[in-house]
Amino acid sequence: MRPTILNPLFASVSSLPGIGPKLVKVLTRLLGGTEPVGARVIDALFHLPSGVLDRRLRPKLIDAPFEVLVMVAVTPERYIPSTGRGPFRVYCSDDTADLMLAFFVPQTAWIENALPIGQKRWVSGKIELFDGIRQMAHPDRMVDEAGLKALPLIEPVYPLTEGLYPRQIQKAAQEALAKTPELAEWQDPAWLKSQNWPGFREALASIHSPQTPEAVALDAPERLRLAYDELLASQLALAMVRASNKALPGLAVEGTGAITAKIEAALPFSLTSSQVTALADIRADMAGPTRMLRLLQGDVGSGKTVVALLAMATMVEGGRQAALMAPTEILARQHLATIRPLADAAGLRLGIVTGRDKPKERARMQEALRSGEIDIVVGTHALFQEEVEFRDLGLAIVDEQHRFGVHQRLALGRKNAAIDVLVMTATPIPRSLVLTYFGDMDASALREKPAGRKPVDTRLISLERLGEVVSGLGRLLQTGARAYWVCPLIAESETLDVAAAEDRYNHLASIFGDKVGLLHGQMKGTDKDAVMARFIAGDLRVLVSTTVIEVGVNVPEATVMVVEHAERFGLAQLHQLRGRIGRGSDKSTCLLLYKGPLGEVAKKRLEIMRETEDGFRIAEEDLKLRGEGDVLGTRQSGMPGFKVANLDVHRHLLPTANDDARLVLARDPQLTSPRGEALRALLYLFERDEAVRLLRSG
Ligand code: ADP
Ligand code: MG
Repeated sequence: MRPTILNPLFASVSSLPGIGPKLVKVLTRLLGGTEPVGARVIDALFHLPSGVLDRRLRPKLIDAPFEVLVMVAVTPERYIPSTGRGPFRVYCSDDTADLMLAFFVPQTAWIENALPIGQKRWVSGKIELFDGIRQMAHPDRMVDEAGLKALPLIEPVYPLTEGLYPRQIQKAAQEALAKTPELAEWQDPAWLKSQNWPGFREALASIHSPQTPEAVALDAPERLRLAYDELLASQLALAMVRASNKALPGLAVEGTGAITAKIEAALPFSLTSSQVTALADIRADMAGPTRMLRLLQGDVGSGKTVVALLAMATMVEGGRQAALMAPTEILARQHLATIRPLADAAGLRLGIVTGRDKPKERARMQEALRSGEIDIVVGTHALFQEEVEFRDLGLAIVDEQHRFGVHQRLALGRKNAAIDVLVMTATPIPRSLVLTYFGDMDASALREKPAGRKPVDTRLISLERLGEVVSGLGRLLQTGARAYWVCPLIAESETLDVAAAEDRYNHLASIFGDKVGLLHGQMKGTDKDAVMARFIAGDLRVLVSTTVIEVGVNVPEATVMVVEHAERFGLAQLHQLRGRIGRGSDKSTCLLLYKGPLGEVAKKRLEIMRETEDGFRIAEEDLKLRGEGDVLGTRQSGMPGFKVANLDVHRHLLPTANDDARLVLARDPQLTSPRGEALRALLYLFERDEAVRLLRSG
């Protein structure tokens, strides 16, 4: 249960004075939140300023710099009504110079009231020279001496949304602050002292009422303190998941080697040493007394699938079932097709479960899983739906996705205490992010590519040379090559320069005839399968598609990858796409067609693509060029992001937070010490409290 002291923070913002239903709606749009509560007090509290208005500069007019926020004392002398479209103006002066205040909204009475003739007023804004006259358009403040005293010298500026005024969000933040209780310190006092960081409440107060512009900077002590709080909460939650997982008994499963030997004999290659090591890690986990929770990282084409198959076969040797979950239908079917010949050779019984199965098939499959007639099942997330039951599921492998967050890991744990879990990433993930999101898992990496891979020849070509590219493609097709042609959008968009897949398909089909196929996300599943099958069989030589082929598709005979508007793709995406080729023994070519002029970041991305094929390096470069949310796809996937921490700036705090979390749990596994109690509150504050339920006394 959430400590009751925190309840006011988790109430709707409507509990704050001055916030009615209309404002709740606007704030919910800005801060997020779900009906019926909408934005909560804590959301306003953690909505931090992005900058300040610094009103400390109060020069005489003659000394006032242009285009800088200043506060000047002036005396209004006369009003100059608007002529036609011109502004309503107020002519003012101090004893050094003149200033024209300009208002483009004709609220004359209000202006005259704020700026009575002959009475000194403080006005705040930026001065510019207009026709040789000092002018200030729409001062953001106009106050008398008393008003000045009440005005903060430094005013926080918040990210806004339509219909929300700065003063409203400022007030909401202040009211939220007022509702924030004084909480027991959860950080180690010595650490806090060494960093010179304030307390939690103090840090928030200082950021929401900054005394200096620096107080709202991302590297201010106040902000570092809050970022560290959040990172510690996330690392602690992961460490708790890990600890609870380690505490749950697993079934120790030892393979006999009988099935895996047959598979290895049927493989047309021998395993790389990375693959051998990863399998040894996995088998050691399965044979151990606790459940496996392991991450298998490998670059595209590093051969994760065969590792998965051999791991599953080991589980089956131990008398239990295994499941392989893919992110899309196409991939699930492809996995099935890939492992089928090997599984047949070894006598493994395969099944498939997807969201598209006919009711009859589905019922039959469910029965087969329940009775144990199926050893290995491949499927989409439909596999983890309630009605799917297994006779004895021992191993779940999740392929090619990051959407398998802590939440899902916990859910799987509840379903059956003794399931080993292996998560395979589609591409390498930067080290710091592995720690952030998979800190609870053990990790293996396939750093080595299977032998015999030829480097892909990557070229950057302007879209203006499309004609040459198409005739070059024609020559390659004559030698028997198969090519992917990737377009960024599904259908004709408003923007005329977008090459839609359908248009490109028609264009290429008019040249190469029925050798060209089209694949996109809006097609029916069965149609997609049919097109894919024809490409695999070689009936189609050019596959025009949207990025649906991005993940996992494996056609070793394909040696050409054309990416149209490559400048619109992210680095990870381009790397994934290029990973579709260079899989066979023939030389491969990747043509990145771009439309200039290229922006700085797009140019850097394309250059990195030309320079290297090392996915681990590309992942690090990608993180440098983009935010972490993008790299992991957390923005779309609903993985827990960070509210106040920004990994681009605060990443250096992660290793300490990780050590800290482990140390805390080693000393106080149930979080019952005074610091442990305080840390529970921290977990609730940053909504990492799923992990609290894992505690016995939680
Ligand atoms: P990914 O890691 O991207 O999922 P795959 O498992 O699809 O990679 O493997 C890519 C290709 O490499 C497949 O055609 C697979 O048969 C082949 N492969 C896997 N391991 C080896 C190996 N040790 N030697 C040669 N080829 C291999
Ligand atoms: Mg794969």
